[in-house]
Amino acid sequence: MRIDIVTLFPEVVDAYLRTSILKRAQEKGKVRIKVHNLRAFTLDRYHTVDDYPFGGGPGMVLKPEPIFKAVRFIRGYTESNPLVLVTSPRGELFTQAKAFALAKENHLLIICGRYQGIDERVLTLTQAQEISIGDYVLSGGELPALVIVEAVVRLLPGVLGDEESREFDSFTHGILGPPLFTRPRVFQGIEVPPVLLSGDHARIAKWRKEQSLEKTRKMRPDLLEKENLSSGDVAKKEK
Ligand code: SAH
Repeated sequence: MRIDIVTLFPEVVDAYLRTSILKRAQEKGKVRIKVHNLRAFTLDRYHTVDDYPFGGGPGMVLKPEPIFKAVRFIRGYTESNPLVLVTSPRGELFTQAKAFALAKENHLLIICGRYQGIDERVLTLTQAQEISIGDYVLSGGELPALVIVEAVVRLLPGVLGDEESREFDSFTHGILGPPLFTRPRVFQGIEVPPVLLSGDHARIAKWRKEQSLEKTRKMRPDLLEKENLSSGDVAKKEK
């Protein structure tokens, strides 16, 4: 997979991409990520990226030309037609299901917004999908872009080792993950649930499933409704 990110703060994005699993995924050749400075695509000597909103109102809006130029440049030199994503609180909500869908793409181009947002016309012209990481407002699209990249890249085949397996991740099976314990066996007077020490893999799997369902019922009943699963259904499905 190839990912291009267009941002006004490339150094912030680069720093995170050079860390941990994202770094290793690039070293292993599972993904190629390139970060572009939006200012490099400006047309004037002052490298202007923003302007006042038509119709008045507070703040500034990212001008369409530099973004349009960046998309055209990336399309040209990669000789590919990437799926263009624009980070925006007005976008489709990013979920694990969406991460799975994006992980099937060959090439993603993510544009990070700033200020009040981006001129609407460039969204239309680049056929961009607006994508939101949640119902709150940040000051820029850099963190959302990194959230998306990290969630997608860890789904690419061969990226995660055994120690980071997705098996017990929340959402992998449509519900939240089970509670986790490591040594010591007793910590501050609290014991590890005995079943985990039993060595009985079937019992442990059953316990983990029950715990996952219990937690999901309590914290995220909407997930059970969405999957149309009652606890009984999941148990049956797994049999
Ligand atoms: N005026 C806009 C918000 C601008 S926030 C509105 O109310 O819709 C500035 C930029 O931060 C946005 O252009 C977007 O790129 C990014 N951003 C802020 N919150 C976000 C979120 N929840 N998801 C994705 N991107 C977000």
